[in-house]
Amino acid sequence: MSAVVDIQNVSFAYGESVAVRDVSLTIDEGDFLGLIGPNGSGKTTLLHLMLGLHSPDSGSIELFGDPVDEFEAGERIGYVSQQATSRGGTMPVTVREAVTMGRFAHAGFGRLSDADEKIVDDALETVDISDLETRRVNQLSGGQRQRAYIARALASEADLLALDEPTVGVDAESRDEFYQLLDSLNDSGITIVLIEHDIGVVTDRADHIACINQELYHHGDTESFVESDALAAAYGSTGQVVHHHH
Ligand code: ADP
Ligand code: MG
Repeated sequence: MSAVVDIQNVSFAYGESVAVRDVSLTIDEGDFLGLIGPNGSGKTTLLHLMLGLHSPDSGSIELFGDPVDEFEAGERIGYVSQQATSRGGTMPVTVREAVTMGRFAHAGFGRLSDADEKIVDDALETVDISDLETRRVNQLSGGQRQRAYIARALASEADLLALDEPTVGVDAESRDEFYQLLDSLNDSGITIVLIEHDIGVVTDRADHIACINQELYHHGDTESFVESDALAAAYGSTGQVVHHHH
């Protein structure tokens, strides 16, 4: 099995302030990795490192087998940033236009073929927002906007979906549907890395867990995480843990 993300001994500091310390982690094709840790533990920073949005101070990162700073196939990655859904965005584009943007990486601007349009149709259908295609993205609910972002990633035919707290500001029912959608995307072969503050949701859905607090406290399958004491070790006695609810 080939690694989609390969992180070796990576450290990163904002000035003097260390955010990620000597983390090594691989994500294999088809994995659904839950990335957890307390507030300010470096989750978003580590995701940014994986995607090449920060350069590590030391260590190495490869994406699909290439050093991340040389990686050019941006269309292989769908990324939904923290607060993207609750903030809503300012661009007054329609849902269809937003999803179509996912095709431009393949087609180039203004040259969408019928096949590209079909892929956009299919992406809208998969996330069940075809009826909203003429609606403006900034007029959607949090859950609908979430689906529009996922549809854009699908239209780009991303092999890796990176999601940073994607359900903040999304109601409970939409959230459940959203996680079912992620499950089915993962079943179809898309690799997923998900930052989610609700540990119960993560251990229900993800097949692998990485638990960090600057350093990596645990990385392995979900069962081994649940049986380990990594959670308590990483979260300390701060009472921040959201308990498993099943
Ligand atoms: P998490 O996503 O787990 O909440 P972050 O990766 O956002 O954690 O932040 C890790 C640490 O780095 C925190 O202490 C945070 O305050 C700090 N940090 C994050 N972004 C910046 C930045 N742009 N400049 C300086 N410090 C930052
Ligand atoms: Mg964060």
